[in-house]
Amino acid sequence: MIYHSTRGQAPVLGFDDVLLAGLARDGGLYLPTRWPTLSAGDLRAMAGLSYAEIAVRVMGPFLDGSVAEDDFAQLVADAYGGFDHAAVAPLKQLGPNDWLLELFHGPTLAFKDYALQLLGRLFDHVLSKKGQRVTIVGATSGDTGSAAIEACRDRDAVDVVILHPHGRTSDVQRRQMTTVTAANVHNIALEGTFDDCQDLVKAMFNDQAFRDEMHLSAVNSINWARIMAQIVYYVAAGTALGAPDRGLAFAVPTGNFGNVYAAFAARRMGLPISQLVVGSNSNDILTRFFETGEMRMGQVVPSLSPSMDIQVSSNFERYLFDLFAEDATEVEARMGAFRQSGSFSVDHGRMAGVRAVFDGFRLDDDGTRRVIRQLFEETGELIDPHSAVGIAAGRARRRDPAIPMVALATAHPAKFPDAVEAATGVRPPLPARLADLFDRSERYDVLPNDLAVVQDYVRRVARVAA
Ligand SMILES: *Cc1c(COP(=O)(O)O)cnc(C)c1O
Repeated sequence: MIYHSTRGQAPVLGFDDVLLAGLARDGGLYLPTRWPTLSAGDLRAMAGLSYAEIAVRVMGPFLDGSVAEDDFAQLVADAYGGFDHAAVAPLKQLGPNDWLLELFHGPTLAFKDYALQLLGRLFDHVLSKKGQRVTIVGATSGDTGSAAIEACRDRDAVDVVILHPHGRTSDVQRRQMTTVTAANVHNIALEGTFDDCQDLVKAMFNDQAFRDEMHLSAVNSINWARIMAQIVYYVAAGTALGAPDRGLAFAVPTGNFGNVYAAFAARRMGLPISQLVVGSNSNDILTRFFETGEMRMGQVVPSLSPSMDIQVSSNFERYLFDLFAEDATEVEARMGAFRQSGSFSVDHGRMAGVRAVFDGFRLDDDGTRRVIRQLFEETGELIDPHSAVGIAAGRARRRDPAIPMVALATAHPAKFPDAVEAATGVRPPLPARLADLFDRSERYDVLPNDLAVVQDYVRRVARVAA
């Protein structure tokens, strides 16, 4: 399988290199040159299979020529074997044709585990084959860091260094990172803000000599392999609900557009998805785009669903590439305008095609609390604020009540206990696997906001330097 960049100026690559590169050298994102398809027969044959079996069937063609079939099946079995629900991504019925897809049964209780647990293992496998090592460096305001740490812990070919702003993450979020005592995991509590952490990470990647010396790499949300792994739960949910003989709709709480792009990819491969509802909080750039045809950057405002507090949805570029019939020149023109002026537009004709599939919906913090309380009263279920945005979006925008609407629950309610308790009066307990989180000892290093100091630290801990 060969991949090309949405900007058309980077070399085409095989899966291994796309995995390790993340971003393409021309600033674009990688996509397959030819998409594999799932026929009606393929989909019917998946009904009743385990999540791991479906995962191997859906992802296999994307890795063709890179990872041997048996090796891949083993990596998948390992990746999802540690999830705390036998179904991995269980569906829960909320009402007639109204479903919740629970994506919080991985080690860090958010949907990012579904891709990152596999990604860490794929990195290790591909690097070991090549006899190489990398140092993964990232900044986190909370969620992504712990998912990356859990994905990379104890992997031979990978060291991971995560910067978080000292004293500015929640206790649960910090402890999910700092109580991992694996020798290849290094937490920096930076004396600064999240933006300072991000600036230092960018500066390290922009220091070409340092980047090469340390074999720096990232597992951020533009990595193709993350999208690929997320296609699986749409197919699993779809076949469980009767696809291909029945259509489906999904409602997805959205930030970087990675999760909902995976749904679009599943549709492109043949899953009969008739509608995709994109839910946003007050950071509603995507919802405004679906309404107006104009993508216009605004100010980021903090909300109850912090993982969606985003004004630039980097994975949207992949959808633009599809929308403009894979014309990289058209994509580059729009991304250039967006960088320069903070906006770009899509013509009326193409917007009709966009709206045939997508709807947008926004929900502010008051609405989010209301939905959490309402669902608790209706069903007894506690949901987190991100999931509440998805559920509200699906209910508000569904077009056909005869088609199952599946809302994605992207985080466990115990990750956001204050918001859930404020809305319902009930404090959600941590699941068994994290019940002793507050008794575990922490390990992290407090460093000043100083590039040279942080670079020295990375040199000291990274095994590529040995
Ligand atoms: C990352 C995240 C999202 C947003 O997903 P995107 O792929 O960036 O759209 C939503 N909810 C939670 C809990 C997240 O961690």
